[in-house]
Amino acid sequence: MRRTKIVCTIGPASDDPLVLTDMIRAGMDMARINFSHGTSGEHADRISRIRTLAHTLGRNVGIIGDLAGPKLRTGNMAKESVVLKAGDPFRLTSDPIEGDWRVASVSFPGLSEAVKPGETILLNDGAIDLVVESVTAHAVETRVRVGGMLGSHKGVNIPGRSLAIEALTAKDRDDMAFAVKHDLDWLALSFVRGPDDVRLARRCVQQCGGQVPLIPKIEKREATEALDLILRESEGVMVARGDLGVEVAFEDVPFLQKMILTCALGHEVPSITATHMLESMVELPRPTRAEATDVATAVLDGTDAVMLSEETARGRFPVDAVRTMARIAERAERDLDHARFMNMGTQNPGVGSAVARAACALASEVGATAIMVPTGGATTPMQVSRRRPAQPIVAFTRDDRVRRQLALVWGTVALPMLDVRPAEEMIHSCVKAARAAGLVAVGDVVVAVGGPSGGDTDQRNTIEVVRVR
Ligand code: PEP
Repeated sequence: MRRTKIVCTIGPASDDPLVLTDMIRAGMDMARINFSHGTSGEHADRISRIRTLAHTLGRNVGIIGDLAGPKLRTGNMAKESVVLKAGDPFRLTSDPIEGDWRVASVSFPGLSEAVKPGETILLNDGAIDLVVESVTAHAVETRVRVGGMLGSHKGVNIPGRSLAIEALTAKDRDDMAFAVKHDLDWLALSFVRGPDDVRLARRCVQQCGGQVPLIPKIEKREATEALDLILRESEGVMVARGDLGVEVAFEDVPFLQKMILTCALGHEVPSITATHMLESMVELPRPTRAEATDVATAVLDGTDAVMLSEETARGRFPVDAVRTMARIAERAERDLDHARFMNMGTQNPGVGSAVARAACALASEVGATAIMVPTGGATTPMQVSRRRPAQPIVAFTRDDRVRRQLALVWGTVALPMLDVRPAEEMIHSCVKAARAAGLVAVGDVVVAVGGPSGGDTDQRNTIEVVRVR
């Protein structure tokens, strides 16, 4: 059984119900709705299609809404695209003009105050490199250091600069209301700079009347520096390597990835490694060997989930991309150093974490087939998962949304929990359900671990060793 979860971005390439069906069968655990593209009508259709198909196929598939965030972009260009040549002057202005090969507008009125001569501005996700020569009230005069093609609405990055910019745009607030209305399972936050941005997002979600768990995307240098504080406020994290690799030197990305994944394990929250994982499969049916190595490295580094972006959103081989991801992840898991994760320190010392660790140690010592976790709010399964036990984690919950949220958590299969009385019978009912699902067999030994909200065992943390009958 594969333990690493697969997140697939949904787009035109995966809208066909037959394709989506095959993607779910091939191993898609979570769908990602990217609010940077598409209309709310398209998103609503996708959500209902994913839920209907998952239900029909009897699969637990969750949905992540990914907010566009305050990304700086170029404005409209007169032509579809122009070529900027190395050595030419190029002006960026906050005035709303149509751009050409000499000038482009940028969707940020504070641009002139944000940069100084000698600093770098990158366009088109880092493809074009400009150096600032002088600054006036409404314009920044630059010289092209590395040229390239520029079209409308392309990303603008000012590496290392902290910009005085609102963390959530008006569109983000609308998309949050949409996410709450459609009961999305997770919400990813783009361009988070520090813990305040996560707190603000949480207040906004609450004002919309919801409680969606938050996944900050780490894609700015500032966020890597405030990582520990950000994770204290968050339920998950994403290594958003696309923008991160533009904001920091690309040679730093592998080490930041390891740092973010280790920090997530310490905070006992799930992590997603994202972007360019199988990029060549946008056009080709097989991955490069370097891509296979990249996916395997993320698994060995301790990621909970690996994410497909363009590959499944607009690529030519969305189903093959999911199958490929599953194959590489399964192979990498065979070499996972379980003991390393067991022995890693935690940022959440306490009874729950200690009991989860003890349950994993016990499961290994008694040769258990599975670790069963009745849960109220997903905390105990996450605490168990973070230890990367060799046994499958079978979580039980009465809350369908928690069940879908757990689709993101490494090694966890989430099943519905029946309303069993008296409480002492609950573990037996869970064992029966796991047996019916083919996860355990008569004669197996399982370890059952519960937090205080896990079932009806009130304020006790419990570990039991149960023989399956
Ligand atoms: C990224 O930058 O890596 C990312 C996941 O964000 P997006 O796909 O929204 O650019």
